[in-house]
Amino acid sequence: MEEDHPNPSSSSQTIIITALSSLSPSHLSHLTHHLSSVFHHHSRRVSALLSSPILFSLTLHHLHTLSLHHKSLLISRHLLSNLSLLANYIHGHGSPQPPTAPMMKLRDLDVLLLLLLLCELHQHDPHALDSPPSRWRVELCRHATKSALSLSNMGVSNCEILIKYVELVAKCRNFVNAMGCGGDGKDGREVSASVAAVVALPSVEVSASGWECVICKEEMREGRDVCELPCQHLFHWICILPWLRKRNTCPCCRYKLPTDDVSGEIERLWAIFAAKTGGA
Ligand SMILES: [Zn+2]
Ligand SMILES: [Zn+2]
Repeated sequence: MEEDHPNPSSSSQTIIITALSSLSPSHLSHLTHHLSSVFHHHSRRVSALLSSPILFSLTLHHLHTLSLHHKSLLISRHLLSNLSLLANYIHGHGSPQPPTAPMMKLRDLDVLLLLLLLCELHQHDPHALDSPPSRWRVELCRHATKSALSLSNMGVSNCEILIKYVELVAKCRNFVNAMGCGGDGKDGREVSASVAAVVALPSVEVSASGWECVICKEEMREGRDVCELPCQHLFHWICILPWLRKRNTCPCCRYKLPTDDVSGEIERLWAIFAAKTGGA
């Protein structure tokens, strides 16, 4: 995050908008279509939550049993699935891969949506949640009605879906940063490469002598099968495999492979998007 930027939320938004604007029109339209169905599903869950006192109190109870760490993990996972969606379209010059982020369980989704609603209400009116939790559903309904009214004459255009996406990602990103649970690229914690990414690495034959494996400093003999990372750096398999069990970066250029670590993966995708704005 740049020091001279007064509003971290607006710089998060700039990064996502720049990444979106780098998409081809057909990818942008596919992404919008996908987002529209996700948002539609979420708004159905929100309606169910707000209209059923039983579902609401069960979900609120579940939310209360979660530790702060679990709450931020839920939001991190939600952020990651949103970032992965965009990353799929940015990487694929051909047809995008289906989303790789696992679907959230319905109960977790409900808890997440309730948490986001409560955050939004608190932001809108800091005293709204001073009332006892039994009143929260009514408070949320009142707030939802008000915001639905202000949105109702806007229709649901592609542009509004993308604005909603940008705001959602920026909100989750800032929440995750504020909780200090990764994604800000400052903790420098090392995470292992994902098993799926390692298994998918290609084996190539060394075509000329004189190349050195930087891990063991020994020459890679001509004709030998070695591992090629996506950045095209080559390593002995017996050298790179233990390396990738500890880190997801190339020993030569620090290119990042995907990781199963939620905050490590958020950081990796965020750096890819940020690179498009010309910064890091
Ligand atoms: Zn080696
Ligand atoms: Zn490399």
